[in-house]
Formats: sequence, structure tokens, C-alpha cells
Amino acid sequence: MNLTKLEELLKNEPGFRIKQIERAVFKDFSENWNDLTNLPVKLRNLLTGKIDLSINGQIFESADSGSLKALIRLDDGILIETVLLMHKDGRNTICLSSQAGCALGCRFCKTGELGFKRNLTTEEIVLQALFFSRYLKKVNTRITNIVFMGMGEPFLNYDNFLNAVRFLNDENKFSIGQRKISVSTSGITEKIRMLADENMQINLAVSINAPDDEIRRKIMPIADKYTLDELISSIRYYIEKTNRRVMLEYVLLKEINDFPEHAEKLSKKIKGLLCFVNLIPFNGDDIGKRPLIKNINEFKKILSNNKIPFTQRYRFGDDIKAACGQLVFSKNL
Ligand code: SAH
Ligand code: SF4
Repeated sequence: MNLTKLEELLKNEPGFRIKQIERAVFKDFSENWNDLTNLPVKLRNLLTGKIDLSINGQIFESADSGSLKALIRLDDGILIETVLLMHKDGRNTICLSSQAGCALGCRFCKTGELGFKRNLTTEEIVLQALFFSRYLKKVNTRITNIVFMGMGEPFLNYDNFLNAVRFLNDENKFSIGQRKISVSTSGITEKIRMLADENMQINLAVSINAPDDEIRRKIMPIADKYTLDELISSIRYYIEKTNRRVMLEYVLLKEINDFPEHAEKLSKKIKGLLCFVNLIPFNGDDIGKRPLIKNINEFKKILSNNKIPFTQRYRFGDDIKAACGQLVFSKNL
């Protein structure tokens, strides 16, 4: 799909046409120009000949958890992955990729291992939501929540990410409330401050992942550029400006950051911040990195004792490699 030609094609049409078409594609999720019966036949035929509405995607279904992964082939052949999590309470959360690959190379993340291919355009980000919206329409439901937690670092593709948020939020398009949209960053502090000034209601999550700089630098090369104090100061600024609670993601890695002393140190570091910790036990084949249940429980107990609110992320879609940090450019399409 590529809609860049649309404006050119419609330049002699009345002004409302583009709105009509956007509504059909991004609100009613029509997949075929001939379904747009409110357009003149001539225009429908023109569009059918010039713009392909299909999306080249393949779905993998998890046996256990109600999650699906889509492998989408972009026009230049690059493959990206998007995940749909269908929760029992009726929420359908989609996890979007913002880049093909990632340049930041976190030691625990499969996407990072692959390196960086390129930024996704706004249309390519939106395309992922469109793909699953069409799928969900067939079972009479829709996307309710969006998280930018797929491949890539959204804040290193800031403008396209933000335009995609505006597009998804637009009431004439996907109409997904800002409060239902979350973005996760590895901690690009100047962009955290920039987002704070955008006057938006979306949710911010930050991958803090360590209680001090020394450990953080070992697992996240980006920590060489930004210290934890600098990061926390940008989060504080975000909270001051937006008055919104921030999620601090913490990937638990065996014997690296999962000891009681780490939980104590983390608690001290973030005390008083309007935040909660989201614990994510390592996902992946490397069993040596998976934290012991005993350590996870101990970690939680210490956070509780220190009155730090926390949640634990449930692991979805292991069998289809849809869990956090598992997204790669699969070759099976
Ligand atoms: N690049 C952004 C967003 C995508 S990653 C970021 O890093 O925040 C989304 C979350 O998955 C991050 O919190 C990251 O720390 C976590 N993650 C990455 N690899 C993981 C793994 N193997 N196991 C568990 N969580 C992982
Ligand atoms: Fe990139 Fe996020 Fe993976 Fe780190 S965890 S390599 S920032 S996608």
C-alpha cells in the first residue's frame, strides 16, 4: 500500500473527497476501492488502477495466549513485525514497530542484535495498525490500545512517531484516545523533554533496566550517552509538565540486575517520583539470562517494602517469538 499518490490523483476532485476516502480506509477499514460505493464509478476505477490497498502481511498465531504476530513486507522488501495481544477483558492491544531494526544494541534484545536498517515512515507505522484493524473487523471488534514497544527506538524517529500518534488519534481516522496510546523509550532525554512540551495525553514508559550507571552501561550502550541521573531528571520534567504517571520498565536479568541490593538501590533512586515499575523477566532462548522465581519474588517484596508501586509483565506469545525483545526480520514470508 502506498497512499502518497492520492493527493495528486485527487487534485481535480472536490475537496471533501480526500476526507471521504481517508474515512473509508482508516475508519471503516475498507480493503477494496469498489467497496467505496459513495465514490463515482470512474474515480473508483482510477483508484483501483493506480493505488493498491492491499498490505503484504502474514499472521502467526500463538497457541497459548491469544496473541498474534504479523510479519509485514514493506514496498522495498524490508520485513517488520507487529504484535496483537487480545486480552480476556476485551482489550485489543497492538504493539507497533517504529524502525526496522534498532541501532542501540541492548545486550538482551533480539532486535538490537540485528542492528539498524531504517526508520519507518508515518504511513508504514500506521499500516501496522491498519493491518490488524482489518483482521479485527472480521470478528467485529477493534484495536483499543496501542503501545510503541515493537522494533526500534521511537524517539530516534520522533517526527514520524508523533505524526503516527496524531493520525491514530484523529477522530476521523482510527480515533484511538491518547490515553490509550503508550510509547516506550530507552531514554533519549532530550526527546522525553520534547514530548513533555507537546501537551499530549499519551503514556510514557522508560526502559530504566538498572539501578545504577555501571550496570546500565553493561546492558545498554545508550547509557554511555545519558546518565541515570540525567534520565531521571528528564522524567521528573515530564511529570511536572504533564502530571502523568510514568512507567519504568525493568528487564530482570539473572545475576546482573535481579539481586535484593539492586531492588533497594532502585527504590532509593526513584523514591517520590510519580511512577510505577514494570518488571519484565527476560524473554528469550538464553536460559542463563532468565531470573530465578525466588529472585523475582524477593525483588517485588523489596519494592513493596519501600512503597514503590509495581506490576509484572505477563509473557505473551513465546511460541511465535512475539514477546518483548523477540522481534526480528523473520525470513519465512
Ligand atoms: N526501544 C524501546 C521500545 C521497544 S522495547 C525501548 O527500549 O524502550 C520494549 C521493552 O522490551 C523495553 O522495555 C525493553 O527493555 C524490553 N525488552 C527488550 N528485550 C527484552 C527481552 N529479551 N526480555 C524482556 N524484555 C525485553
Ligand atoms: Fe532497541 Fe529497545 Fe531493543 Fe534496546 S530494547 S535494542 S532500544 S528495541
